[in-house]
Amino acid sequence: MHGRDALFPDFDQITDAENALTERLSQARRDYANRKATSAELTPDWLGELKSKQFDQAEELEPLMDWVINALDVGSVQMTHPGYLGLFNPAPTFASECADRIASAFNPQICVYSHAPAAVEIEQHVINELARRAGLPKGSGGHFTSGGAEANSAAVLCALQAKCPEYSDKGIYEFGGQPTIYVSKESHLAWLKMAHSAGIGRNAVRLIATDGQGQMDASCLATAIDEDSKNGCVPVLIVATAGTTNAGMIDPLKPCGALAREQGMWFHVDAAWGGAMIASTEGRTALDGIELADSITIDAHKWFATTMGAGMFLTSRPDIPAQVFRISASYMPESEAAKDFYVNSNQWSRRFVGLRLFLALGAAGWDGYGDHVERTIRLTNRFTENLRNAGWTKANQSLMGVSCMVPPEGHDAVQRYVDAVHEDGRFWISKAMFEGKPVLRACVTNGRTDEAIIDQLTEFLTTV
Ligand SMILES: *Cc1c(COP(=O)(O)O)cnc(C)c1O
Repeated sequence: MHGRDALFPDFDQITDAENALTERLSQARRDYANRKATSAELTPDWLGELKSKQFDQAEELEPLMDWVINALDVGSVQMTHPGYLGLFNPAPTFASECADRIASAFNPQICVYSHAPAAVEIEQHVINELARRAGLPKGSGGHFTSGGAEANSAAVLCALQAKCPEYSDKGIYEFGGQPTIYVSKESHLAWLKMAHSAGIGRNAVRLIATDGQGQMDASCLATAIDEDSKNGCVPVLIVATAGTTNAGMIDPLKPCGALAREQGMWFHVDAAWGGAMIASTEGRTALDGIELADSITIDAHKWFATTMGAGMFLTSRPDIPAQVFRISASYMPESEAAKDFYVNSNQWSRRFVGLRLFLALGAAGWDGYGDHVERTIRLTNRFTENLRNAGWTKANQSLMGVSCMVPPEGHDAVQRYVDAVHEDGRFWISKAMFEGKPVLRACVTNGRTDEAIIDQLTEFLTTV
């Protein structure tokens, strides 16, 4: 298949090519045990081949797909490898992969309700059920995003809008002082980019001290807000992280929420990866206070393990994003406008990403997801215990499935261990900074990682 025929083949050809592709991908999945978890350096030959493809000559589709699969097989850190104990990039659930195929086949345009009522209802239903499970009040809503960064960015805009309704038309001058937002210094620092693009400037972000355990110090937070107010700033947003990216620490949610209420500020909980703890009964307890949030970020593509990229913005005040993202476009259908995603969120044309979580949650149930979450925590704890028995220490007292370990020789030895693991290639782990010091970070992100793999890795680390 090549040329225009490759764009719209007849249905028999599609079936044959699709079956061959399925077979090829299944083989790649089965072969992981023989593959490295690490990425190879791209070779000059391969880069030359890539550059030579200037699309003047049409190629056969099937061999071209093979070329790509072979490249990805070696030229990426392998998220689907059970030895990948990495940053929160999951091996995707099978149900979410199926959802991508279904969404591709129908390709619904879900920015407008009237164009895809079934898909919009399904996606909105998933959002509403997540909001309910998180404990947000009735009438809460939200939308899917490309990921946590987009959802957090919506929180910044909503906080500004809620504080100053004139902001949307007249900009930040209406505040009469520098609007400020508060996050911990261990938070996901994309907040700086968001402040920049919201027009309040990077200096608006206050990085609040932590308590030595990676959690925001609530009294430093109160002091900072107080001082800023005295100096003519306008505090608008408190962000509590529930599951810091590095170390899985949870900021004090209830004190942060209470302070935000007292000060008339927006309270956002960034639970991009930790949010999946709501699936587990014990996990939900660790997140007590999340229900006080005006808005919450949860990534479906992290611990819920859908394919990339799928984030969620949940809010108890859906009227605010409706003000932030409002628009009227003459060429857009008018009916059911209140339900249209394009007037309630940042994206316009939209992929049906919510189906990934709908199918996965539907097939696993909350209990199935709870099992998945608790199992990954148990495996991470096994990793911690194995290393503790060999004289390592755990730096973070996290309730979530992430382990930050310090080798017996101390923090400075971390890099050497990480290099040795990557050199070996059977596993992938990372170095992270926790409270200003390097730690070896491991986190189970793959539902196929098991005790044997954990034990092999810790055996390697204790004998290397
Ligand atoms: C991953 C992460 C983000 C960013 O989310 P993306 O999906 O990568 O855009 C934000 N906050 C926290 C706590 C995260 O772990």
